[in-house]
Amino acid sequence: MKKHNFYAGPCILSPYTIQKTADAVLNFADMDLSILEVSHRSKQFQAVMDEAVALTKELLNIPEGYHVLFLGGGASLQFCMVPFNLLNKKAAYINTGTWAGNAIKEAKLFGEVDVIASSEASNFNYIPKDFVIPTDADYFHYTSNNTIYGTEIRKDFDSPIPMVCDMSSDIFSREFDVTKYECIYGGAQKNLAPAGVTIVIIKEDALGKVSRQIPTMLDYRTHIKKGSMFNTPPVLPIYSALMTLRWYKEQGGVKEMERRDIEKAAILYDEIDRNKLFRGTVAEEDRSIMNVCFVMNPDYAELEKDFMEFATMKGMVGIKGHRSVGGFRASLYNALPKESVEALVAVMKEFEAKH
Ligand SMILES: *Cc1c(COP(=O)(O)O)cnc(C)c1O
Repeated sequence: MKKHNFYAGPCILSPYTIQKTADAVLNFADMDLSILEVSHRSKQFQAVMDEAVALTKELLNIPEGYHVLFLGGGASLQFCMVPFNLLNKKAAYINTGTWAGNAIKEAKLFGEVDVIASSEASNFNYIPKDFVIPTDADYFHYTSNNTIYGTEIRKDFDSPIPMVCDMSSDIFSREFDVTKYECIYGGAQKNLAPAGVTIVIIKEDALGKVSRQIPTMLDYRTHIKKGSMFNTPPVLPIYSALMTLRWYKEQGGVKEMERRDIEKAAILYDEIDRNKLFRGTVAEEDRSIMNVCFVMNPDYAELEKDFMEFATMKGMVGIKGHRSVGGFRASLYNALPKESVEALVAVMKEFEAKH
């Protein structure tokens, strides 16, 4: 039976990415060798790195003065690398979920952290709106998509200071104004590649302004200077990332991804709002188009396990909600086809008809 993959991360990748990655594991760049067994210094892999950087710049409209890096350590290491490199005295953060909280925790090791807004008191079910970004902070950090709670910020803030953004789970799903940011980062395993590589977009001018010593591996300048090859990079995830980037370009770029993502999310939210058995968990205006969280309506709470089993039997995979929200979460990343959303909606309708 065809599986519909709604996992939150690692998660669905385009069939093109999977096929091309499999091919390269067997025979990379007509070398008659696996990509797993050739040097990252080979000219064939250098070409992969160069094209991945160039395509990222093209797809995201990244201007001169910014560098694209492919690093190890996940988005979680960026929670520490960002303040290590950019926080001199004070930084402003908003706390919109678990990942934002983790970023705040690390930043506190490096200076004053002004948490200017938080939705923690209501289990992060909305994005705070009325906050003022201080002008005397070094940067303002936010998480654009809260993967666990299903809220999303899809518009660049008007910020008086440079911004830093964790875009792990919605990068390549909208166009944004790179010039408003000092740093944008994301673990690749949601909209780009298998786990193991982190994409970092960093502004050259933002660096070299902190007074502390930075260990070599944690200094962005090291990786800029060495073209993300100071140490051995995660070659296979980078190769897969390149395949996804090629696929994005061929499909019509980020604008087209956004159009599809909005359409897919609307199909599912419409059904959640219509179906008497279910309800959404977050403020409507903050609903994520990447991670759709929903629960049983209170009158039907006892059907949760039954629906889970029914949906699983029908080929739905990965829809169990995160333990901090409960219920269900369907992740609709770029690679997820509309047919999968329609299949989930059909299952929800069929289940409703039985009750
Ligand atoms: C998954 C995720 C992370 C963690 O990424 P790792 O690569 O596992 O460290 C951080 N932020 C957001 C928004 C995420 O979705």
